[in-house]
Amino acid sequence: MDLCLLPARKLKELLLNGEISARELVDAFLARIRELDGKLGAFLHVDEDGARQRARELDVAKAKGQAPGPLFGLPIALKDNISVQGWPLRCASKILDGYTASYDATVVQRIKGAGGIPIGSCNMDEFGFGSSTEHSAYQETRNPWQLDRIPGGSSGGSAAAVAARMVPFALGSDTGGSIRQPAALCGVSGLKPSYGRVSRFGLVAFGSSLDQIGPICHDVEDMEFLFEVLSGKDVRDATSLDEPRYACWTREGEEHATVRGMRIGVPAEYLSEEIDADVTASVKAALAKLEAEGATLVEVSLPMTQYAIPCYYLIATSEASSNLARFDGIRYGKRVRADKLRDLYLATREQGFGAEAKRRILLGAFCLSAGYYDAYYHRASKVRAAIQKEFEDVFQDVDVICGPTSPVPPYRIGERIEDPLAMYFCDLLTIPANLAGIPALSIPCGKDRDGMPIGLQIQGPKLGEAKIFRAARCWQRLVSLHEELPTELLA
Ligand code: GLN
Repeated sequence: MDLCLLPARKLKELLLNGEISARELVDAFLARIRELDGKLGAFLHVDEDGARQRARELDVAKAKGQAPGPLFGLPIALKDNISVQGWPLRCASKILDGYTASYDATVVQRIKGAGGIPIGSCNMDEFGFGSSTEHSAYQETRNPWQLDRIPGGSSGGSAAAVAARMVPFALGSDTGGSIRQPAALCGVSGLKPSYGRVSRFGLVAFGSSLDQIGPICHDVEDMEFLFEVLSGKDVRDATSLDEPRYACWTREGEEHATVRGMRIGVPAEYLSEEIDADVTASVKAALAKLEAEGATLVEVSLPMTQYAIPCYYLIATSEASSNLARFDGIRYGKRVRADKLRDLYLATREQGFGAEAKRRILLGAFCLSAGYYDAYYHRASKVRAAIQKEFEDVFQDVDVICGPTSPVPPYRIGERIEDPLAMYFCDLLTIPANLAGIPALSIPCGKDRDGMPIGLQIQGPKLGEAKIFRAARCWQRLVSLHEELPTELLA
């Protein structure tokens, strides 16, 4: 039996009934990382010693009769923008080269507290700026389904690691699609929770009004189970919602995996001509199956979708330019020495940031500057409010909204890197959920003409995670696509 291929819940069962030890499990995943990651480039840092030691401690505690936590003995990968005490934290940027995190993010504390084992951190687009992981300052990450394709981004390393079964699950962060889009492109499942439902304390900020941490997993049940551990109020994050921890449906009953009686909104804007034909065909086929299962498909309209990309690229870059001001060569990471303080700042930032980061800092600083603030940031905020309102109105009538996750299937590495607007277009269908603060997930939906994964996105009303999980469980039960393995990698 190959342990690495089993879902986290099954591994937990084996651990709890003593068929395997935490140490054995960690060794199995470390061996797989060593075997495959040379081809994939998913990890920036692997903490072999730390993971083994934690596993040993957990085994000893269990032998002494200590009650095991919900994630007992399960390894997990993190994105390189989530703080783990004592680990390098670089956000795949040169400007943080040499920086070591001095504390654990709240999500990491919760994972450790639940008995989980952080095993390593994964590659990403620098500070989360991108949709392909090509903007990492350190390495390329390849799509496990075809090694010449992008894994999506910005959490491309996390998604590739899960797809290649190098970890049972991973965390990503999602500001405009960075969990859902790479999950879709790598054929795994990913959740962006409602804004404020998972603490951002210890996540390096990109766009503070948009960022959320969330799980990337093999299947919906694992996603729900990990989300339960991550969710809940945190006093150290002022935007954390005063909501109790999400209660996972451990019940396996039919009633939690059916769309019978559900109203599924299908926006015309999500299946327009701009969307790749294979993606549209795959999503339409999925919708027809869900209808046959007893859902009612409701045609809805979200006309503000056309303004989502410009609105997001004004708000997200404004917030990013402000958040990235702290990287000055004094407080964190890299420092390029110079005689004058101003020259030190300039040289550090010139050498430390990559091209996309600079583009965003410039755009954001421009939007926020005196005289332009009203014309750009303020106006974008009004558009954002209108997008929010539009979703609220549609959710009066439907339970969830379905459509594609990404307008395009995974393209070849290098294909869009010279064209920022072509790259930004990839965020068309994921950005609205961040602007509105609503939960959204991606699950495998089908394959394109080249056998590359296509994702189905399910969005719900604010705090409506249970609804989107229910629809996703039903879809997963119908097609079982989550059990397919990337063939090229394993060949
Ligand atoms: N691709 C989007 C961007 O480049 C979203 C990134 C993210 O969610 N971190 O901004």
